[in-house]
Amino acid sequence: MQNAIPKVGIVSLGCAKALVDSERILTRLRSEGYDISGSYDGADVVIVNTCGFLDSARAESFEAIGEAMAENGRVIVTGCLNDEAAIRKIYPDVLSVTGAHQYEKVVNAVHDAVPPVADPMMSLVPPEGLHLTPGHYAYLKISEGCNHRCTFCIIPGIRGDLASRPAADVLDEAEKLAMAGVKEVLVISQDTGAYGLDLGYEASKWHGREIRTRLTELADALGDLGIWVRLHYVYPYPHVDEVIPLMAQGKVLPYLDIPFQHASPQVLKAMRRPADHEKLLERIRKWREICPDLTIRSTFIVGFPGETEDDFEFLLDWLEQAQLDRVGCFKYENVEGAAANHLADHVDEDVKEDRYNRLMELARQISDERGKAKVGKTIEVLIDEVDEEGAFGRSWADSPEVDGCVFLSDTGLEPGDLVLAEIEHAEDFDLWGHVVGRPEPRKRRA
Ligand code: SF4
Repeated sequence: MQNAIPKVGIVSLGCAKALVDSERILTRLRSEGYDISGSYDGADVVIVNTCGFLDSARAESFEAIGEAMAENGRVIVTGCLNDEAAIRKIYPDVLSVTGAHQYEKVVNAVHDAVPPVADPMMSLVPPEGLHLTPGHYAYLKISEGCNHRCTFCIIPGIRGDLASRPAADVLDEAEKLAMAGVKEVLVISQDTGAYGLDLGYEASKWHGREIRTRLTELADALGDLGIWVRLHYVYPYPHVDEVIPLMAQGKVLPYLDIPFQHASPQVLKAMRRPADHEKLLERIRKWREICPDLTIRSTFIVGFPGETEDDFEFLLDWLEQAQLDRVGCFKYENVEGAAANHLADHVDEDVKEDRYNRLMELARQISDERGKAKVGKTIEVLIDEVDEEGAFGRSWADSPEVDGCVFLSDTGLEPGDLVLAEIEHAEDFDLWGHVVGRPEPRKRRA
């Protein structure tokens, strides 16, 4: 029997970009009077937002659809898996299957499954929309799609070419988040550096100011909101150099997530990514001169088809020189539909495993040394969680879910508190310390 107030459950898999898609769908449904259910059995229908980036992610998505079918039985599938034939072969009774960011189709499928109840009193959505993250941070998606054609990636095929949101639109959303108490926005897209290219970097009006749809101008304006601004997925175009001074001025967190993927010119060529490792090292050195606190995060793929031991050692050597603070690593996997599947010389799984372990051990050592240099310093920490023994949070150098934590021995803190902490100890990717005060509130200039 349908609930008096229709309830929708959601299972959101994959990356932060997919999480934002889930948030948009829920915001829309909430505005139409639907309630959100945290359990399968309380839901009238369940949306599974899938990931199809790697074969292992596809397998996880199929498993999640299976679980939702078994536990609830009324299931709407959306997201990057986007393979209706394969899904229906195993689960013929799913209610609908749509691809990534087809919000309208998902909402229509929900309407078909459980009609909305027209009652304006139920249609209460906070102005900043609904978020699946804790209340003190939120992802801010600035564009969809990507103009690159990396051989291991099927994202452009799923999400299309770059399509940026006008700057005023992004800033409106960020301002609403700040007003709702969000302390940190994490700027995401497939290619944050390319932001606005598709719109000719056209300006839009925000609070009487003309703001160009371009990374530097957007970061500068976001920096006026008085909250932490963290940049993810920044492909290293030359104009990325322009955001480093904003980091040095404290407008934007001194944190850059640049997915380098590799350093060996041969492997980068096979990946169809730009290969100028020397120039990149030089740029990183200059960035750190301008902004000594800069934390650089990156991800790498090991065991890409054709990667030799020499290529891999080249990568290790490059990483040692680049001294990247935070590193994530993936063992190469075929992805259905990706060009790299057809490349020669696929690497054995045990070699991939060995290279993964060696890369992550070097990354741990670098992170450990760079963390130890923070011992004795006082840094800002945003509290994520508290328990009876203390609290943990993150500094400018830590993005949620993917980086380290700062563990504090103090009690009486709340998630979302910003504190000053003196660092006593560092190990691997994490820091330990205690609270010594509160920072001056950041001034809102917008
Ligand atoms: S830049 Fe990123 S999203 Fe674009 S094709 Fe390459 S890996 Fe895929």
